[in-house]
Formats: sequence, C-alpha cells, structure tokens
Amino acid sequence: MICKEIPKVLYCHIGGSGTWGCEFPEEVGFEGLTVLKTGMEFETPYGTTVPMKLYELDASVTADHKPRQVLYCPFHGWAHLSAFNETPSERLFWVLKEAGVKYILADGSGGGINPLLEPGDLIAPTDFIDYTKRISYLEQFNPLVTRMRDIVCPDLHDILVEEAQKDFRRVFRTGVYAVSEGPRFESAAEVRMQWNAHCDICGQTMMPEAALARAIGAHYASIYLISNYAEGINPQWEKTIHAIYEETAPKIGRIMIRSIAAIDPEKIACHCDDNLVGTNIGEHNRGV
Ligand SMILES: [Zn+2]
Repeated sequence: MICKEIPKVLYCHIGGSGTWGCEFPEEVGFEGLTVLKTGMEFETPYGTTVPMKLYELDASVTADHKPRQVLYCPFHGWAHLSAFNETPSERLFWVLKEAGVKYILADGSGGGINPLLEPGDLIAPTDFIDYTKRISYLEQFNPLVTRMRDIVCPDLHDILVEEAQKDFRRVFRTGVYAVSEGPRFESAAEVRMQWNAHCDICGQTMMPEAALARAIGAHYASIYLISNYAEGINPQWEKTIHAIYEETAPKIGRIMIRSIAAIDPEKIACHCDDNLVGTNIGEHNRGV
C-alpha cells in the first residue's frame, strides 16, 4: 500500500539476514512493543520502496522513559529489487531522510574470512572496504563531502555489542567488512584478496548503507551473524548458509529491539556530525 505521508521518526532498524528467519517483529515476542502499521510503501525519486513497518516501544522499555516509534525496513530494502541496478538503498534512505531519522541500526549476516570467526558468532565491524562497482548517488543526499572517519557510530556500536553479549557467547567488537558485489557470492580468490587486505567478514549490504546514513546526518551501526565460512576458508564446512537463520533470528531480533530502546539521545557523545565536511572546491573555476 502506497503511503502518501512519511511518518516522522528518529529511529530505524534496517533488517537483514540476521532477522529474516522470522516474521519481525511479531514473532520475536517482545513485551512493550506494539506494531502500529505494516505494508507501508513509499514513492521516491528512485522508485517505490519495499513495504515497511512502524512499531512503538512503550516508555517502560526505553532509555529516556518516553515512548518511541521505530521504522522497520526488511532485508535492507532490497526484496525483489536488484541492489546493483535498482537503487533499493537510495529509495530507503530517501524515506529515512524525509522521516528525520537520526539513529539507524542494521542487522545482517556474512561469510567469515578471519579464521577466528565461526558460524554462529556475531561481529560488529567498525570499518569496511567497498569492492562494489555501483554508481554512487551520495551527493544527491548531501552536497558536503562525506568523511568516513568513525563511519560506524561508536556510541551505537557499543550499545549493539553490549546487548549482543547478553545472548551470544562470542561477539567480536571490531573488524573490517568487505562489501562484495551481489547477487553472487565471492570466489575463493576474491576471499584471499580480501583477507590479504585485512577484511574479517564479507557481505553485500554495509555499503552504501553506512555512507548514506552519514550523508543524511544519522548515526549508524550494524551487527552481523557469521552464517558460513567465506569461500575457501574451510572447505570441510558442509552446512547450508540457511541452516542457522531460523534458529538465530528471534534472538537477533530481540538484540536489535533492546538496542534501539537503549539509545538515549541525551547521552550520545560521538562526533558523527563532524564528518560532513564543507568544501569550497565548487567556487574555483578550474577551467581557467
Ligand atoms: Zn554517532
């Protein structure tokens, strides 16, 4: 259903393969959460978004003891859309900008490149290398230069890790995420290259999300389930990557809800806002 009006919300959960094994948030069974709207599609200059949900956390569970509304977008806004050709992230972030979203948490999963990582672990990366070749529309979201310093908000990152540690035995609080070009997975040689470049996990979603979040002036942090070993890392591994999702989705769902609830805007002390940098390059006449 196309919604003409974009709700004003400060918080967004971008769902991914960390939570796709269940109907989120309904099947998570979180007390203090009420689903307000479902099936909300929005028209944007990049096309129509996937259906999103709006839920409310009541004052008894939030850090500032006020009720808060949260926009939930399933599977990174991709659904049937091609991440390469159809700008699903740009559709989503256009809506988030209009909504006034300031705090974004994302979940996902990926292949473990670092041999220390095992399927079933969680990792909250603090940086990325973008191996994709997609066209960037970043300047359409903000004309300023988008600096990648502390691209993962340190404050939101700490909240995510703290909440994750309550439910998972092994949570890695740092790491580099190799963003690969979907829809295919990486070859063994590509994974070797990414490991040589000090990447720990490979996946397809951290970019352009992280940069778009910064461009719209929002804080962003994400956490990923290691669903499998990356190609060539452990050839003996025989489970399918889907085996783990149904088991972990409700747990990761609760982590995401608790983390959104734990954000206290009054206590956020990061410097994310300082990383949109003005430039006077446009004022120079380079042709002379
Ligand atoms: Zn921040």
